[in-house]
Amino acid sequence: MSEYRIQGETGEWEVVIGLEVHAQITSNAKLFSGASAAYGGEPNSHVSLVDAAMPGMLPVPNRECIRQAVRTGMAINAQINAWSRFDRKNYFYADLPQGYQISQLYHPIVGEGEIEVILDEKDADSPRKTIGIERIHVEQDAGKLMHDQHPTMSYVDLNRCGVALMEIVSKPDMNSPAEAGAYVKKLRSILRYVGSCDGNMEEGSMRADVNVSVRKPGGELGTRTETKNVNSIRFVMQTIEVEARRQVDLIEDGGAVVQETRLFDPNKMETRSMRSKEDAHDYRYFPDPDLLPLELDDAFLEECRASLPELPDAKRVRYEGMGLSAYNAAVLTAEAETAFWFEDLLAQGAEPKQASNWLQSELFGALNRLGKSLDESPVNPAQAAELLKLVSDGTISGSIAKQVFEIMLETGQGASAIVEEKGLKQTSDTGAIEAVIAEILAANPGQLEAYRGGKEQLFGFFVGQTMKAMQGKANPGVVNDLLKKALA
Ligand code: ADP
Ligand code: MG
Repeated sequence: MSEYRIQGETGEWEVVIGLEVHAQITSNAKLFSGASAAYGGEPNSHVSLVDAAMPGMLPVPNRECIRQAVRTGMAINAQINAWSRFDRKNYFYADLPQGYQISQLYHPIVGEGEIEVILDEKDADSPRKTIGIERIHVEQDAGKLMHDQHPTMSYVDLNRCGVALMEIVSKPDMNSPAEAGAYVKKLRSILRYVGSCDGNMEEGSMRADVNVSVRKPGGELGTRTETKNVNSIRFVMQTIEVEARRQVDLIEDGGAVVQETRLFDPNKMETRSMRSKEDAHDYRYFPDPDLLPLELDDAFLEECRASLPELPDAKRVRYEGMGLSAYNAAVLTAEAETAFWFEDLLAQGAEPKQASNWLQSELFGALNRLGKSLDESPVNPAQAAELLKLVSDGTISGSIAKQVFEIMLETGQGASAIVEEKGLKQTSDTGAIEAVIAEILAANPGQLEAYRGGKEQLFGFFVGQTMKAMQGKANPGVVNDLLKKALA
């Protein structure tokens, strides 16, 4: 694979990227209060006295949030810290009534792990790369300021305040926009399999802080900037592209990159300085005296591990073992939803290759046309398996199956009932097929002569004519055999 390089006036530059992904933990309640963590809602309708930081209120850790963070750590083969602790990160802003965020600086719940990414899933020999994970820690989200409700005043909505986040910090192991994109995609896929985050970037359930620096290939790490709250995979990739370019131009013009926090503006395709970078000591971190250290016992850890589903990498390997191509296995396992649908189809008796092809061409095609997602599919796996069985046992041909599927989508009827009602059964009746072939040969003397004169490509023409005359219902294998005889 050719390495990603930025061409400058002084030669080529390498980009170094580290991502800090904030993922909202799937949970009914917030991290330290019983208020709802649901997205949306009337402003300030999901706020408890703890979230509003009323005097005397004490935080109580939500066991489910801790559990989800641990399961996520296990899914990326990370070290799980049975002893961890919460720290206060102090800063003043109106979206944070406590005056500090409860986070984990010194002793995060999850230590080093890793995620393997495949850069081009269509290519079986695509380069793979293991991206190191530095840590995952658990922390509270802040509220939201609303500046557009009143000409001279700002309002604050505390619904998000106190919602549980995981911050997943990568090592500076990525070296191109494509690698960073593949990493976020893979991370999102793992989170969805585990069920610890819905990965919905549009609703802000997942957002990335993008750290970028540039250096001459093989040189020392350069100074990084951190572009905050990037909320789509495409924007992550664009941020890297424009920020790396900016840094190269700046350095080559005799300037120096300053460590700072920046914002990405997708309309102008540029990053802009937001503030100079704070250091940890600016936040006066200290252990939160309201909370005991988190101690996880063996039974809890075992339950976390036992509750993990089969993860995408393992699934992909298993699917390849069923005879699927690397590409098909990657497509089917990229989203948990697709893999589970496929496995339902197999559980109903469908054959893996047939099911994989049908799902990716017919079903995905139909859903695309209908603008529906897989969980809104009008046909369920049991109904689909019934259709596929009619093809594999020779009752209908593949082309008739397409027609039957269309009718299933329109009417919701079952495949067998449609075949019965419309008389679509495939025939292997040699007498009937021979009679049709005789008619076709008589009606096309020119083609017949040309074929016998050596133009063998015309065989397909005769197959087509025969199938057409039999309205697609003739068994293609039988048609082939009989035609060969008749044309010899
Ligand atoms: P902070 O929390 O202050 O942002 P961290 O040490 O936690 O700092 O690192 C944040 C992120 O920056 C990590 O994802 C790390 O991989 C990345 N990073 C560190 N050094 C560099 C660098 N020179 N270039 C690009 N990314 C870097
Ligand atoms: Mg940071």
